[in-house]
Amino acid sequence: MTLQLTHFINGLRTAPSARTQPVYEPATGEQRGLVSLASAAEVEQAIALAKAAQPAWAATTPLNRARILFKYKALVEAHADELAELITREHGKVFDDAKGELTRGLEVVEFACGIPHLLKGEHTEQVGGGVDAWSVNQPLGVCAGIAPFNFPAMVPMWMFPIAIACGNTFIMKPSEKDPSTPLRLAELLKEAGLPDGVFNVVNGDKEAVDVLLTHPDIQAVSFVGSTPIAEYIYATGCAHGKRVQALGGAKNHMVVMPDADLDQAVNALMGAAYGSAGERCMAISVAVAVGDEVADQLIAALAPKVKALKIGNGMSPGMEMGPLVSAQHLAKVKGYVDQGVAEGAELVVDGREVGVPGLETGYFMGGCLFDKVTPEMVIYREEIFGPVLCIVRVPDYQSAVALINAHEYGNGTAIFTRDGDSARQFCNEIQVGMVGVNVPIPVPMAFHSFGGWKRSLFGPLHMHGPDGVRFYTKRKAITSRWPTGIRAGAEFVMPTMK
Ligand code: NAD
Repeated sequence: MTLQLTHFINGLRTAPSARTQPVYEPATGEQRGLVSLASAAEVEQAIALAKAAQPAWAATTPLNRARILFKYKALVEAHADELAELITREHGKVFDDAKGELTRGLEVVEFACGIPHLLKGEHTEQVGGGVDAWSVNQPLGVCAGIAPFNFPAMVPMWMFPIAIACGNTFIMKPSEKDPSTPLRLAELLKEAGLPDGVFNVVNGDKEAVDVLLTHPDIQAVSFVGSTPIAEYIYATGCAHGKRVQALGGAKNHMVVMPDADLDQAVNALMGAAYGSAGERCMAISVAVAVGDEVADQLIAALAPKVKALKIGNGMSPGMEMGPLVSAQHLAKVKGYVDQGVAEGAELVVDGREVGVPGLETGYFMGGCLFDKVTPEMVIYREEIFGPVLCIVRVPDYQSAVALINAHEYGNGTAIFTRDGDSARQFCNEIQVGMVGVNVPIPVPMAFHSFGGWKRSLFGPLHMHGPDGVRFYTKRKAITSRWPTGIRAGAEFVMPTMK
């Protein structure tokens, strides 16, 4: 029987929708099941139920909301192997990487467990004679999240733990490529004691997303995905009066200075460029070698390692790289490699025809390494989102900074150096949202906020951490005077405190 991946609405798995789409297992190319694509009416029903559940949830004390999240954290940990297997089967990434993704998602749950403290407002006694002032942070109502395929657990967990901890109810629209994990996460929330209707999963495509962007009862939309869709989500959501944060694509550069520890830089590049087959928004896809000597040394050290990558089914122990997510994406990534060759970049390692014996129908390719990539080339300008690392040679530090600052994306970047001055200057002048110093993938911890600059993020607030709490709450400022305070007659001028 085909696995039916439907919706989770008001505490229950629904019947399949009229429209469905196949979900594949990338390691074998076999169909795993069918994901339901919600109709507008189905999304509207989910919104109505989430709206009905919101007042009681907002009235639940923050401490009791946190207690449910504490139980949820324990349940996700207890089911970590099962959840990681779901991720690996539908996304393709290796099992240990899937477990790492869960850990990073759980860190946001841990952060959200501190919601009684995080929601505290400010209070000033006696702002005027007999007058006190304070602020409170109140929930928005029903919020929505739309996630990409590449982190089916972590990206939803960037959003919903904080949103519901703040007293909102939530509708999650996962990627239609790997919907099983978010559905299981929803069931575990129910098991942890979350009331029905507070967290709902609606699977679907543009039809479902458009309802979330335009429906008057959705107050805020969090999005993570590619830049063209992020821009559309931001424009449409804002035009319908919603609060929107929309995180987009990336092209992350890692600068290797002549004084860097080369072994450290090479290991960092291997993990950051080829881990998760390059399907990470914080993957390093460009190594900026400062000086030809650095470039030659990098190529000499990287090439044999790229050729030796252990590629296979992510469920097999010891693998370093699994398949790409879909046949279409595999063809797109290989197309970029073809284009790089046609544009004149030097393909030092060609992984286009690398397959895995016994898994000929899986969506595998090997790691690719390009040297002498230049800024006009398409493989430099566009996000490839595959296991392809481009080396760009620059003569000096200033050229490296100018190169990165001229790129349309500004998600993450890193500098590898032993020199504190250059590292400090880099942190100051680079036009990128997340910066690593000898750290290749500088993903902020849950208690900080995650977000890029330029066309990698639309909207003023980043995800999770303090920005997450700000995004999912509205602030109310209260000024109060009691009758025992100073009484004055009617005032017709702007009130000022005397
Ligand atoms: P995508 O933009 O194709 O899809 C993201 C979500 O948008 C999915 O839920 C999808 O169903 C929905 N969607 C797709 N087309 C739509 C349309 N026309 N109208 C409305 N909704 C639509 O992205 P993807 O391929 O799933 O994920 C990969 C992308 O996500 C990469 O560009 C990657 O850089 C980016 N990403 C960014 C971050 C970040 O933090 N900045 C994190 C992870 C992934």
